[in-house]
Amino acid sequence: GMLSVASILAESATRAPDRVALYFRGEALSYGELWSQTRAYAGALRELGIGRGDRVAVLIPNVPDFARVYYAVLALGAIVVPIHLLFKANEIEYVLRDSGADLVVAASSSLAEALPAARDAAVDLVTVLAPPPVVYVPAAKTAANASPATPATIATNAAGSGATPPVAAALGTEPPSIRRLEDLAGAAVPIARHEPVRPMDAATILYTSGTTGTPKGSVGSHLAIVEQVHNSLIDSLDILPDDVIFGGLPLFHTFGQTAVLNTGFRRGAAIILLPKFDAAEAIELMVLHRATVFEGVPTMYIALIEAAAARVEARPPLRFAVSGGAALPVAVLEKFAETFGAEVHEGYGLTETSSTVSVNSRYEKTRPGTVGRPLWGVEVAVAEPEVEGRIELLPDAGAVGEIVVRGYNVFNGYLGRPDASADAVVDGWLRTGDLGTLSADGFITIVDRKKDLIVRNGYNVYPTEVEAVLARHAAVSMVAVFGVPDDVHGQEVHAAVVTRVGETVEPNDLIAFACERMAAYKFPRVVHFVTELPLGPSGKVLKRVLTERFAAAV
Ligand code: ATP
Repeated sequence: GMLSVASILAESATRAPDRVALYFRGEALSYGELWSQTRAYAGALRELGIGRGDRVAVLIPNVPDFARVYYAVLALGAIVVPIHLLFKANEIEYVLRDSGADLVVAASSSLAEALPAARDAAVDLVTVLAPPPVVYVPAAKTAANASPATPATIATNAAGSGATPPVAAALGTEPPSIRRLEDLAGAAVPIARHEPVRPMDAATILYTSGTTGTPKGSVGSHLAIVEQVHNSLIDSLDILPDDVIFGGLPLFHTFGQTAVLNTGFRRGAAIILLPKFDAAEAIELMVLHRATVFEGVPTMYIALIEAAAARVEARPPLRFAVSGGAALPVAVLEKFAETFGAEVHEGYGLTETSSTVSVNSRYEKTRPGTVGRPLWGVEVAVAEPEVEGRIELLPDAGAVGEIVVRGYNVFNGYLGRPDASADAVVDGWLRTGDLGTLSADGFITIVDRKKDLIVRNGYNVYPTEVEAVLARHAAVSMVAVFGVPDDVHGQEVHAAVVTRVGETVEPNDLIAFACERMAAYKFPRVVHFVTELPLGPSGKVLKRVLTERFAAAV
C-alpha cells in the first residue's frame, strides 16, 4: 500500500500537517488542509463510481485543484489521464475515447472545449472552479506600492466573479447542469486513507503531444514515479523540507508531475503555483515567497534572464535550479548563474520514463553541456540508431548513437498499441529517439533528436550545436535551428532568431558569426528574425511549425 503515489501526499500530511504545501495567489495551503480536501474529493469521486483501475481525465491548469484531483484519483487506485490545456474539443475527445475515460474533471476555464468533447465521447463530466475569481497584481504594476514588505496585492476581479463560463456560446444551446466537485465533496463522506496498489499498477496515462503522428497514451506505473522520487531525484537533488520550489512547468506534463509536484511533496517542501508562466510574475512570486529552487524548460530560463535585466533590484534567494525538456545552451546556463546566483543542474528525460533519466547531481561537480549521469538504478547505453528490431550497443565510449534506457522508470507501454510498444522497448531497453554520447565516467550528452537532425549535402548537422553557438551572440535572446527542404542540398540550415530587447543585428553578421565558429557545412545559410518562437504547451520550441512556415516562404 505504501507504494501508491498518493502516499507521497498522505505521508507529508501526517508528518507535518502545518507546513506549507502550496502557495497560490498569495495564499498558503498546508499539507494537512490539502490532504483533507483531497480525501473529500476522493469521497465524491467514489460516489460517482470511480474505483481501482478506472480512468479519470483531468483538464486543470496549475492551481491547487490539480493537486487535489490528481491525488484523489490516485488515492482511489484509479488512473489519472492529464490532458494538455491547449487541446481543442476534438483532441480532448480523442484522448477521452482512446484512454477509455470514465469521467473527466475540467476546470471551469476549460469547459468550452471539455463539454462538447465529453458529450460526444459520452463521458461523464464534473467541474472545478479554477482559476478562482481573483487576479494577482504584481507589485511592478501597482504604482502606489512603496513597501518592500508587501510586494504584491490581491484584488477581487469583479467582472470575473459570478460570470458564467462561455459554455452556452460554445454549444449553441442552454448550458446543461454541470456538477461541481466542491459541491459533491461537501455532501460526500471523505475517504479515510488511500487504497493499496501493486507496484506495476498504472498511475498515469500521459498523452504525447503528437508532433510525430497520433497522440499515444504512455502508461506510467506507481513504481516508476515513487521509486524515482524517493530514491533517485532526492538522491541527486538535495530538495529539503525548507525549500520553496517554483515549478514553471505545466502539471499535466511528466516533468512538472514527477520532478516538481511529487518530489517537492515527498520532502514536505512548498511549491509555488502559477497557472500561466510569465517571467516577470514568476520573479515577483519567487521574491514574495522566498523561492529556493526553480525548475523549468530552457525557454523559461531565457525569459527569466530578460525579465531580471528589466528589474535590477529584486532577486529570490535561489539555492539552485533544474532545467530539462530541451537542450539548455551553456551560454544561458552561465547567464542565469550570473544573474540569479544559482547553479543550473541540467537533466534529461521523457514522458516514457515518467520524467527523468539523468541529471547533473547536487553532490558532484556539474558538467555544463551534459545532462549528467543516470539516476540511481537507471541504466543508459548508446545503440546503433539505424538497426531495427533489436538493440546493438556501440562498443566505443564517446560514439554518437541512440540513447537507450533500462530500469524501473521505463513505462508499461502505450495504451492499446502493442506494436508501437514493441518498437519502443526492445529487450527491456527503451529507444529514446535521441542521439547522444556517453562518456567513460557515465556523463550523457544529448546531441539531438533523431527527427530534428538536418542532413545537408550528406553531412549531419545537429541543430542543438548550431543553436549553442548562436546563443553566444550578444544580440540573440532565443534561437531555433531547423532544416528546410532544398533542391540543391537536400536540406538547408535555417535559424529563427528572437533578438534581445534594444539590440539589433544584420542577418549576414549573424551568419558570419556562426561561420567563424563552425565547419562550413554547418552554419545557417538563412536567418529569420521573429518576434517569438512557436512554443508547445510545455514551453518547448515547435520546430515542425518553423520548418512548415519557412519552407512555404522559400
Ligand atoms: P512529443 O513526443 O509528444 O511530440 P516530446 O518529444 O517533447 O513531445 P517529451 O516526453 O515531453 O515529448 O520530451 C522528451 C524529449 O525531450 C526527449 O526525447 C528529448 O528529445 C528532449 N529532451 C529532454 N530533456 C532534454 C535535454 N536536457 N536536452 C536535450 N533534449 C532534451
